[in-house]
Amino acid sequence: SFLSSHEIRKRFIDYFVKENNHKYIKSSPVVPYNDPTIAFVNSGMCQFKNVLLGQRTLEANCIANSQKCIRVGGKHNDLNIVGSDGYHHTFFEMLGNWSFGHYGKAEACGLAWNLLTLPPFNLPKKHLYCTVFKGDKSLGIESDDETRHIWKQIGVSDNNIIMCGASDNFWEMGEIGPCGPCTEIHIDYPPSDGKNLIELWNIVFIQYSRENKTSIHKLPNYFIDTGMGLERLTMVLQNKTSTYDTDLFSPIFNRIFNVYGKSKYTGLFDESSLDTYYRIMADHGRMITVALSDNMLPSHNHKLRRIMRKSFLLTETHFKIQPGYTLLYDIADEIVNSLGDTYPELVENNKKVKYLIKHEYTIFNKLRMSVSKDWKIIIEKYPVLRKFNPYEECTGFVPACSYLIKHKYLNHIPAFTMYDAFGLDKKTIGKLAETIGLSVNWNEFEMQLRNLQTKSIKCIQKVSNNYSMQNIPKTDDSYKYKITRHSNQTYVSPVV
Ligand code: ATP
Ligand code: MG
Ligand code: MG
Ligand code: MG
Repeated sequence: SFLSSHEIRKRFIDYFVKENNHKYIKSSPVVPYNDPTIAFVNSGMCQFKNVLLGQRTLEANCIANSQKCIRVGGKHNDLNIVGSDGYHHTFFEMLGNWSFGHYGKAEACGLAWNLLTLPPFNLPKKHLYCTVFKGDKSLGIESDDETRHIWKQIGVSDNNIIMCGASDNFWEMGEIGPCGPCTEIHIDYPPSDGKNLIELWNIVFIQYSRENKTSIHKLPNYFIDTGMGLERLTMVLQNKTSTYDTDLFSPIFNRIFNVYGKSKYTGLFDESSLDTYYRIMADHGRMITVALSDNMLPSHNHKLRRIMRKSFLLTETHFKIQPGYTLLYDIADEIVNSLGDTYPELVENNKKVKYLIKHEYTIFNKLRMSVSKDWKIIIEKYPVLRKFNPYEECTGFVPACSYLIKHKYLNHIPAFTMYDAFGLDKKTIGKLAETIGLSVNWNEFEMQLRNLQTKSIKCIQKVSNNYSMQNIPKTDDSYKYKITRHSNQTYVSPVV
């Protein structure tokens, strides 16, 4: 019999906390605090960013946790792969361990290797592959031979060590600041002479700091930052074809089937099959439930809003369920069943989540009614625009089209106005321009966008300077926060 996802998560935490002296820290909410650079928390390391930057010290120097992560937008955007691939999700759980100046590379690699290959996980060593940073002249950093040597000593054969470049194996927080090489453990799954590599675990050695484009220096005391996807590990340990066949997803599919009643999820990876929509529905349902229960609001986060609208439409068009929000209720309940023990805020906020889903659906319906007349006029004038589904686009899509027609923008699309005043994203602006055969001046757009970003970062800093305990949203009462101040910035961070 296979380990359940629950047992797998628990084993990870117990291994680090009970057997290897790490301190357990709760997942932070998926809403990033005082970090204008990301729309969602996308890795376990986010809540330790200010530790890495030297702005905060922790009482514990070895930490383990399982972090709720969302990868929609920004550098890590897996939204468009969801449904067609068996191991990328918008929401996933990242199991991680950290050393803040305590242990080094050999211990980090050894800890990971032993957890994966010894009982109860027992992953076959010959199917595990390790990537190592091969160095980069333009970065001025040599190859990570130390790590290569460590893997060899652990017993990984030459054939299973792969030297990789900076794009996958050099981590940087931003243009300046902490950075360093990483090593990843992949599994050849199903085994095929190393051709089916799936990344399981990423181990970053934050051993440098970058001051500017050309200068990097070694840190005296370095950090280890690791992350492994629970869904992927569960897939491998439960011997399933994809993460969707594990116990993290199958109850959700059963629930959808119970409501839908026509055909079951069969696990086909064929674009045109209903299975693709089953996967998207389950994935988006998890993402929406988690984001809402962490106090994220669709009116504040247009990526969340879009995903909610897409789910309403999927419910209506592919699962033929009316009204289009009720399926998300069922999914939310199922997620409480599967993740509620690990993340109690899902249980506490279940009612609120449902309220917000319904509220958002009401807004969505009003929008559909109010723009349908305008949309008719638009597609009479520009029949090519028929290929857009205005209800799936952002709220401003139809008004933006009306604006274009009214102002006779026949030479180029005023991209920044589309973005700033109507809320269209770059992809939609590009698609819109292409459809009606207009050009876009992206250089001008980028310049205007930079100006806006500079302005909004200044504004966020102002707001965060005024941040006080009372201003932290209510459900975060379950998390203990510490407020720290550094050079005029206020940081809200979990208490260890
Ligand atoms: P990949 O190359 O497969 O996209 P990544 O390099 O972007 O993964 P990391 O940023 O290194 O991923 O995150 C650490 C771990 O989190 C990965 O090794 C993987 O196991 C898991 N992971 C990353 N992205 C996803 C996702 N979208 N869904 C599920 N698990 C993920
Ligand atoms: Mg990725
Ligand atoms: Mg990768
Ligand atoms: Mg990686």
